[in-house]
Amino acid sequence: MNKAANDAPLLLFSTFDALELGILILNSKGEIALWNRWLVKASGQRSDDLIGLPLAIAFPELKNSRVEQAVKLAIEKDQSSFLSQCLNRAPFNLFRPQNDDEAPMRMQQQIQITPLRQFNNEQFCLIQIQDVTASVLREKILQERAAELHRFAYQDGLTGVPNRRYYEEKLEEEWRRAIRHNHPLSLLMIDIDYFKRYNDALGHQQGDTCLQDIARALQATLRRPDDVIARYGGEEFVVLLPFTPLAGCITIAEQLLYAVRGLKRAHPDSPHQIVTVSIGCASINPSRDSDSSILVQEADLALYFAKQHGRNQLHDSH
Ligand code: GH3
Ligand code: MG
Ligand code: MG
Repeated sequence: MNKAANDAPLLLFSTFDALELGILILNSKGEIALWNRWLVKASGQRSDDLIGLPLAIAFPELKNSRVEQAVKLAIEKDQSSFLSQCLNRAPFNLFRPQNDDEAPMRMQQQIQITPLRQFNNEQFCLIQIQDVTASVLREKILQERAAELHRFAYQDGLTGVPNRRYYEEKLEEEWRRAIRHNHPLSLLMIDIDYFKRYNDALGHQQGDTCLQDIARALQATLRRPDDVIARYGGEEFVVLLPFTPLAGCITIAEQLLYAVRGLKRAHPDSPHQIVTVSIGCASINPSRDSDSSILVQEADLALYFAKQHGRNQLHDSH
């Protein structure tokens, strides 16, 4: 035999201990036959303490776990299993090496369990454990960023309520849902009265604060989770009320009028002396041969009449 062949088992052992993943080999009785240095370090146990122990005695946290089931499958049925960290975050009680001043961090694991077929006429089982904590953290950050981008795309920056894009998508969605269920869909168009004068009298910043307060008051008045309020643009808001007939929509519109009046926000240049809104209400039983623009036109027209009749009031399209 040449020298390289002589050195092979030693080299294999060094490699085994140098691997940057956990290796655990169980015999056919499910007892620990071998494990590598990576796993010794991550588990904080002594290497010879565990040899010969059944898996769930050496690692009590694995009792009745998916790992135990998978080991059984490998030994008895010769089947491999892969346990992703999505479903089994941290089956082994393992910790990542941290700096002295940092709290220990539980390791997120990805585990592969493979039968070692008829090695020495005995069925062994190989468990490979990978530390995926860093990629899990990266994924979490990416998901948070995506959620944030989604929020920015659908939220009005000034008032925090959903924006026009969100409302337009919801309108189409609710229109189709109303057709499917043969239910009415209502829409309110809300416009702040004499808002240009408000800005002129008190300044744009005060105008912005007023928009924020009104958005909050309108939003707080809506109770059903499916009701949608959005800033349509400028000093206009829309409210979409699924499964709501005209009578219900008028009731909500009244509540919204009162909610804004209730703020008692002084308006130095309005005949009403306080900030008020006008509301146009429309309700429709959507059908397949029409589209949502009818509802929008009706609400718009109703708002026009509310303005014409002196503002600070609601008007419906019927
Ligand atoms: P009306 O009662 O007929 O609705 O009169 P109005 O003055 O409210 O309506 P108009 O359309 O003439 O003016 C709307 C004003 O809303 C113009 C603009 O100064 C103000 N506005 C629109 N967007 C904003 C905003 O984001 N912040 C502030 N401060 N003002 C805004
Ligand atoms: Mg307007
Ligand atoms: Mg206005």
